[in-house]
Order: sequence, then structure tokens, then C-alpha cells
Amino acid sequence: MRVCSLASSSKGNCTAIYGENEILLVDMGITLKDLEEKFERLKLSMENIIGVLISHEHSDHTKGILSLVRKYDVPIYCHYDSVDGVLKKTKISSLCVSRFADAEFKIGNFKVSSFKVCHDVCCVGYNISENSNKISIVTDLGHTTKAIVERLYDSRLVILEANHDEKMVLASTKYPPVLKQRILSDRGHLSNISSAKVVLELAQHNVRQVLFAHLSEENNTPALCYSTICDYLQSNGVEPNVNIKLDIAKPNGVGPIFVIN
Ligand SMILES: [Zn+2]
Ligand SMILES: [Zn+2]
Repeated sequence: MRVCSLASSSKGNCTAIYGENEILLVDMGITLKDLEEKFERLKLSMENIIGVLISHEHSDHTKGILSLVRKYDVPIYCHYDSVDGVLKKTKISSLCVSRFADAEFKIGNFKVSSFKVCHDVCCVGYNISENSNKISIVTDLGHTTKAIVERLYDSRLVILEANHDEKMVLASTKYPPVLKQRILSDRGHLSNISSAKVVLELAQHNVRQVLFAHLSEENNTPALCYSTICDYLQSNGVEPNVNIKLDIAKPNGVGPIFVIN
């Protein structure tokens, strides 16, 4: 399978996971036009989308769903506990939505299971496997728990939030205190340093590749994210890009493409 981030920031998120003739999307927080253009660039066919897994209702994960469903009649997959919020936000018909619980299920050749994360609305992370290759995607979480991090072990690729630098959030003159509090809270977003701690643990549990995602364009920079995480790993005896490969997803660009086989 191949995995390619199509957009990743507080403004829009979408990831394509694809095999021969089957494409699964995780989140649809970009416009349909943007998705169609990116598919053309990747030489992927819109007709091959077999489903869209939604992490949660926020518009940076759902804003393109209605137009996608109207034009291509693609099934949308939501956790039981997030479906009401998604329906309300996107105005799609409940008939387009397949609901899932915590048990593993299949979409085409992909095995999918989800796990709840701590955000200000119901939100899930995903493990997606093809054959015995597992990848994991987790963004929009205020903090991690042992159970969440364990779900990422043994993944061939982990797409992990590294949203902000805490000092940049606190120093921001753009954000009101209530928004700063939300971002930094247990139900907000994962900071660079919190993400670094997860990566250290993943490096010790058979993960060799991480893509940092959902970087804030206001309170983070790719360079700061990278250096914070590399410094933390090095000070704990893990050599970045030797023991574990690190990449940063582009806010609105395509790639890199990860080939997992
Ligand atoms: Zn988000
Ligand atoms: Zn969110």
C-alpha cells in the first residue's frame, strides 16, 4: 500500500491510503476541487475511492465531504459516538454514513480499527492494515495515554500530530486567552515536545517512520518542530533518521509518498 498526505494543518486535513485499485481517505478537510487536482497529479482515479474515514466533526477534517458525496456517492465512515456531530456539521444524509464501533472492520482490502483520543469533541485515531502491514494516524489530541501510544506500536508508518510549540502559543498576540487555553489543554492539540515523547517510545517499539502532521501555521514552524523533536530524541539516545525516519507533512501540498510493503 501507499500512503500520501494531501493536506495537513489546522486549515485542512486529508490523507490517501491506496493499493492497486482501492483508495481510502482519512478525513476530507479540503475542497473537492483541491482533492480532484491532487488526484490528477498522483494519477489516482476518483472512481476508486472506496470510503472516507472521518476522525471527528471539525471542519478542517470534514469541509469537503458534502460535495464529495454529492458528486461521487462515496461511503463515509464515522464512529458511532461522532456521527451526530459529523451529520450536523456537514449536512450529509445519514444514509451515506456507515457507523462503526471499536471492533476491527474491513473496507475493501483494508482492515480498520479505531481508538478514542482526547479532544474537545469525540475524535478517533486509526490503525489501518493491508496484509500484515499496519499504519496509524492520530491527530487532534490534547494528550496521549499509555493505551493510545500502545496502539501505534509496530506500525510501519505513524502519522502523528505535532501541532504547536507551547512557548509560541503563550507568546501569541493573535490568540485570545480562551483559545490558547483550549489548544494547550488536555483536550486540545499535541505539542512538539509531547509528540517527541511519543516518538521516543515508538522508536523503542518497532516503529521506524513517523510523519508529523497538523502543524499549526501560527504557533509552529517545520524547522522548530523538527529541531525540538530531534533534540529530545538525541538527548535520550535515539538518533533521528538513523534509528527512526522523520518527515513533516506539508500544510497544503502532496507527499511524500510512503510505500509500505
Ligand atoms: Zn484538526
Ligand atoms: Zn479538531
